[in-house]
Order: sequence, then structure tokens, then C-alpha cells
Amino acid sequence: MSDSSKEKMQMTVELMRRGAVMLKDPCQVCNGVQVRYHGKIYCTNHDNLSGILSTTEVTYADTSASLRELLLIKLRDAMSLLETEKDVESQDALVSLLLKYVELLNKLPESS
Ligand SMILES: [Zn+2]
Repeated sequence: MSDSSKEKMQMTVELMRRGAVMLKDPCQVCNGVQVRYHGKIYCTNHDNLSGILSTTEVTYADTSASLRELLLIKLRDAMSLLETEKDVESQDALVSLLLKYVELLNKLPESS
């Protein structure tokens, strides 16, 4: 197997991992294996798969998962600030901040 076909194979596998479905019908142009990915049909032989793979799909699930991570980090930071904060007004501000973080966290879908 040549390097480029090995590469194509790896990219096809990566596409399938991301949810692409292999089609029964071969490509009409080159008889290569076709996959359906995000509603479009690509030939794994002559289409530029690396181009498809490099365009990052922005999904709500991914975004909410990173937001959850960010909120947890911020939550922890605010907690450690609150721990050492002596000023009552600053504590009040920190507590309402924590409350907002927690509220937002609760609104996010459970990470799978
Ligand atoms: Zn083709």
C-alpha cells in the first residue's frame, strides 16, 4: 500500500469515527469508496478528505462540554478567592458569581 492510499485510509477511518457512513455505491468518477458525511457524499479516493477533516465542526455538544469545563475551572478559582476573602462586599460579589456559575452549569446538558 502506497503512502497516499494509507493516508486516505486513515482519513476515511477518521471520518467514520466522526460519524460518516460508508455507501454501497462506488464513485461514478473513479469507482472509489464513497461516504456520506454531514449530509454530503464524498469519494474517499478522489475528494480532498483532509480538507473535510480540517474544517472543525462546531456542535452544541462540544461547545457546552468546553463551557462546562471552563465554568468548573472558574468555579474553583472563585471558591479559592472566597476562601481567603475578608471583605464582606467582595464575598458577596464572589458568592453571586459562584451562583451564576452553578446556575449555568445546571442548565448545560449532562456531558456524555
Ligand atoms: Zn472518486
